[in-house]
Amino acid sequence: MALLQISEPGLFAEPHQHRLAVGIDLGTTNSLVASVKSGSPACLPDEQGRTLLASVVNYGKDGVIRVGSSAIARQNDDPSNTISSVKRFMGRGINDVADLATPYRFVDEPGMLKISTRAGIKSPVEVSADILRALKTRAEQSLGGDLVGAVITVPAYFDDAQRQATKDAARIAGLNVLRLLNEPTAAAIAYGLDNGSEGTYVIYDLGGGTFDVSILELTRGLFEVRATSGDSKLGGDDFDHRIYCWILEQAELSALNAQDARVLLTRAREAKEALSDHPSTRITAVLREGVVVDVELSVETFHEITCTLVSNTITPVRKALRDAKLQVSDIKGVVMVGGATRMPQIRHAVADFFKQEPLTNLDPDKVVAIGAAIQANVLAGNKGDDEWLLLDVIPLSLGLETMGNLVEKIIPRNSTIPTARAQEFTTFKDGQTAMAIHVLQGERELVSDCRSLARFELRGIPPMVAGAARIRVSFQVDADGLLSVSAKELSSGVEASIMVKPSYGLSDDEISNMLSDSMKNANADVQARKLAEALVDASSIVNATQAALASDAHLLNTQELSHIENSLATLQSSMQALDANAIHAATEKLNEITGDFAAKRMDAAVKCGLAGQNIADFKD
Ligand code: ADP
Ligand code: MG
Repeated sequence: MALLQISEPGLFAEPHQHRLAVGIDLGTTNSLVASVKSGSPACLPDEQGRTLLASVVNYGKDGVIRVGSSAIARQNDDPSNTISSVKRFMGRGINDVADLATPYRFVDEPGMLKISTRAGIKSPVEVSADILRALKTRAEQSLGGDLVGAVITVPAYFDDAQRQATKDAARIAGLNVLRLLNEPTAAAIAYGLDNGSEGTYVIYDLGGGTFDVSILELTRGLFEVRATSGDSKLGGDDFDHRIYCWILEQAELSALNAQDARVLLTRAREAKEALSDHPSTRITAVLREGVVVDVELSVETFHEITCTLVSNTITPVRKALRDAKLQVSDIKGVVMVGGATRMPQIRHAVADFFKQEPLTNLDPDKVVAIGAAIQANVLAGNKGDDEWLLLDVIPLSLGLETMGNLVEKIIPRNSTIPTARAQEFTTFKDGQTAMAIHVLQGERELVSDCRSLARFELRGIPPMVAGAARIRVSFQVDADGLLSVSAKELSSGVEASIMVKPSYGLSDDEISNMLSDSMKNANADVQARKLAEALVDASSIVNATQAALASDAHLLNTQELSHIENSLATLQSSMQALDANAIHAATEKLNEITGDFAAKRMDAAVKCGLAGQNIADFKD
């Protein structure tokens, strides 16, 4: 394995000096920053000793930007300049959030939505940057120095735009992003599952306004997300709302003004949190018109009014298991994440469903930040006595041979390891029952210009029409640089795999030659790819046409038949001449001419299918 030595800007330090790195959980409701100090990870508190920073930003009349509880304090009086849950808007357009009720003045512009505030037009990236800046300041004060970087967590389902937006926010806040890390993976790292035995784990994350469930599979120190599911409108806030409605009913109150409603919602939230470790709680408030609220809520009543919410979280759990094709009995452990999982009824429901006690010994609202801090500490080079940050990267791309002698890159060069990628392929011929997998290394487009690493075969694919089989090929490079490739046909589950040592025998010179070759030959490669692709398309239509003629030529009159045969011959001769443009044109032509034939075959097949059945068979 080539271990490339990389020094990241800003990471220079004296040997053995501890580099200050943090993990940040940038949450929808609450955000936290954590760091590894004297070997153990901890969340860093603000001056009042609070670790949670509410993810709320107020752009004040006095020009001051407030973040956290001081921003919440202004929410009532200044709703349109107090932005909460901005994470929901990251990397999103205005149409994506049309169904969210918010008091904000959105600016209708193409691209990511923007919010008009007193401090100017703000993109969600800038609002998030304000939250990150507050955490950065807190960390620097608490740790007493400049940070070399941060690991920032994102939900596993975040797409590229949302991840990029998160990175941009960090850059604006002056943070060097060591890596974005999936929230469920961070939670698993916090529990040390990456050091433990291999297996499949469920991460159940019930936050303030969102519910996420992820299934992670741990193999050789590497987590792979097998499935994610959830409900973007289900969280602790909904439990508050149920209590709020219950209070209105008990106190015989009707519609409240916004201020009173907010007061009662805050009381409801406090009551909910109290009921996590008390059998009952008293809720009192004095509303605007002097109306006094004074009610007692027992845990039994609380459970009654929220039991549908609890069971609503199980539906996405079932879906994730189904998507990952797993049973409850396949799950090795369940990790509880998010403040709302402190509610005992949630823990019971999860324990009942999985028939095992979930892991709860770490603080559920801190686990993500803790896991990120552990990862940041490793990436900053504080583990081991290496003077440099050593990042293992893959020196050359790894890929597969596809039809036409072409290489499809699966893991691009310079990917940091460990890493895993998968891609789906399909069969090329009707009834194809085996598929050759040829693993290649290099940057060039053609198989002959890359280095062959291994070949193996996936057998036992059930016979299907061409293009119907779904073959998922997974490439996995572990922390030691060992590549394993597996292929699985998804409908039947047949599987084959092989382990390869990727860069074995390649010297650094060879690597740099292969790289400069790939640049020099870029143009020739494009031409070669064009021809190869044209040939693939052409032979697929040639095969299909020959098969159709063999079985259904009787549906054509002589003229139609000779028409098809002629253009088939034209295509075949252009294929022999290896002229990409001519092949392309002849393929199009044959495609066009055989259109009617395809329709006739379809009609014939339908008629044939109906024959011998009576109408009663079609009732349902
Ligand atoms: P997010 O990931 O969305 O930022 P958190 O994980 O911080 O959110 O969870 C916030 C939610 O957790 C809020 O609804 C809060 O009321 C709830 N919560 C916090 N502590 C408790 C508790 N002791 N009992 C019940 N719910 C709690
Ligand atoms: Mg969270």
